[in-house]
Amino acid sequence: MSASRSRMLAALLVCLAWGCALERPRPMPFEADAPPFRVHAQDAASAQGVLADAAKALAAARTLPGMRTRESIDVRVTSAQGKAAAGSTRWLGDPRRREGAWIELSLNQDPQEQRFLLGHELAHALFDETWQLLPQIVEEGLADHAGETASPACGAARRLAHAIRLCSWTGPGLELVENGRVVETLRARLEPDSLPEPARMLELDGRSYHDVKPAENRELLYAFGYLIVERIGVVKLRELCVAARAAGRKRLAPKELLEAARLDPSDRRAWIPAIQALVGERELAAYRLRRPAAR
Ligand SMILES: [Zn+2]
Repeated sequence: MSASRSRMLAALLVCLAWGCALERPRPMPFEADAPPFRVHAQDAASAQGVLADAAKALAAARTLPGMRTRESIDVRVTSAQGKAAAGSTRWLGDPRRREGAWIELSLNQDPQEQRFLLGHELAHALFDETWQLLPQIVEEGLADHAGETASPACGAARRLAHAIRLCSWTGPGLELVENGRVVETLRARLEPDSLPEPARMLELDGRSYHDVKPAENRELLYAFGYLIVERIGVVKLRELCVAARAAGRKRLAPKELLEAARLDPSDRRAWIPAIQALVGERELAAYRLRRPAAR
């Protein structure tokens, strides 16, 4: 019988799409700008480094349909100091109207994570009103698509992390198969009993999302949103939003999303092949890069 070992894959990145309407981007000692970007940082090298990647990340975000044009986007950069890199998009004025956006990034030394996070956060900053019919976690999944285009390498690592979490929710974990046998099972440390049902996950907003605990469970929500986007496809997802908006609706319903994604909420085990399909050569290469040397 093949050996099966559990392994934790640490959260690579954390990305949140919500912000307080009363905040404004605070000044920092160094600044670098090239329209539409103004990058603020604690040192000149960080400001320049993020500015250099911002234009490419903007082009990556713009590969998605339904993106606004913004004349100015402020980006504030701080050090993650060894913790997971993180990003968030904040709104000036009423968050529901998304009139003005700025981005907060907390970064480590990994240039791929920097590019991924910029692509992901810029997607949030640019999604138009039609995309706002998506539930929050599906918007997160869509923003990951922009991140992947900005950094395919980091995108593959994140996709693998999504697959591990999803397989730890729907079954024993992600089984890696070599020559027809399972050589390793990768598991995330979820607390499945405290997870909401799939339809409820699709009703969460920027506030109620934080009621899901612990952090690993919240990361699963991102993975689920990502799976839904993968299953439906960006073009079809856009069509659903356009049709719902034309009908005067404010949100896509959980049921229609689950149906369009061909995911039966009463039989999560049946999702496993769809989840395993997220993992290909690029994801396995990302795993080999990050796995500990000892076997
Ligand atoms: Zn996000």
